[in-house]
Amino acid sequence: MDVAILGATGAVGQRFVQLLAGHPFFTVREVAASDRSAGRRYAEACHWNLPTPLPDRVGDLVVKPLDAPLDSPLVFSALPADVAGEVEERLADAGHAVSTNARNHRMDPDVPLLIPEVNWTHVEAVAAQRARRGSEGFIVANPNCSTIVLTLALKPLQDAFGLERVMVTTLQALSGAGYPGVPSLDILDNVLPHIGGEEEKMETEPRKILGTWRDGAFVDAPVLVSAACNRVATADGHLECVSVDLGLDASPDEVTATLRAYRSPLRDLGLPGAPDPVVIVRAEPDRPQPRLDRDAGQGMAVTVGRVRPCPILDYKFVALGHNTVRGAAGGAILNAELLYARGLLG
Ligand code: NAP
Repeated sequence: MDVAILGATGAVGQRFVQLLAGHPFFTVREVAASDRSAGRRYAEACHWNLPTPLPDRVGDLVVKPLDAPLDSPLVFSALPADVAGEVEERLADAGHAVSTNARNHRMDPDVPLLIPEVNWTHVEAVAAQRARRGSEGFIVANPNCSTIVLTLALKPLQDAFGLERVMVTTLQALSGAGYPGVPSLDILDNVLPHIGGEEEKMETEPRKILGTWRDGAFVDAPVLVSAACNRVATADGHLECVSVDLGLDASPDEVTATLRAYRSPLRDLGLPGAPDPVVIVRAEPDRPQPRLDRDAGQGMAVTVGRVRPCPILDYKFVALGHNTVRGAAGGAILNAELLYARGLLG
């Protein structure tokens, strides 16, 4: 299936190009970005910032402006929120399937906020969305990058014990701010204790994701989340210190064994981007670490460690995931693989 990438020259757009090279379902045919890039060869317009070579075929594509009509039935969006909302809406109305990283449509009442291993059943909302639009097109959204890491670690605990309250403090990598991102003199020798809008997203999105699609509407999970988000000087990989209040009593061994035993409900679909296991539990007292663990499961797994009792809530642990892979492009590709496997694309 032919695909287009919007915002293809940015940090997440480049990850899409990298991860889609040789993909068994999807071929990149169109790339679009701002007027700064439109009309130029992709290889010239983009400051390629990944360690793998830019695929020649994509490098030779001419970057389209955002208002150009697209031929590809599937569109991946890595646009900033100030332009994404309207463009994605127009493309969905025109019949395209849009898999987006932008925040604009995440909380729409018929847009699935997807982490396939957690809430694949939410794709049922696509039918309601198509009916509203009167079009075969639709939008599915990736959650915020920190939310994805947190929610993948919470899901096994929710299933086994129920979840009541969650406190999370993040240490988020620089690539989460895009390219060129945070000025070096702001972040070297420093930690920034504020990331605009991030805490609100982490406090609301898990409730939708861990909730259900029932009788034509999303019903939030009754979990309360308090988030404190910080930017640190790592390149990739968001680290999160999490405390949880569970619905049922559980021993430390039961909590660890539950996280370790978690298996994706999608294993039998054979989705190329789905990691197995999706949650990796490490026993060492000093893991996970961004540099050592962000690429686990090709960057698609979440690594959990330091599971221990919490004197205020029930348990605490550390979770880590790759923000531009699992938390962005890789997650949006997995969402599209799920839609493809379920016959919802074309
Ligand atoms: P980025 O590095 O700043 O890239 C932005 C991209 O959008 C570039 O391709 C840029 O094109 C294009 N663009 C900017 N303004 C535009 C305009 N007015 N019209 C058309 N295209 C425009 O940002 P990013 O980090 O890749 O983030 C992209 C999206 O993903 C954002 O919504 C972000 O919140 C979300 N996200 C990012 C991460 C992450 O870890 N970075 C994780 C999850 C979600 P030019 O090169 O031509 O300027």
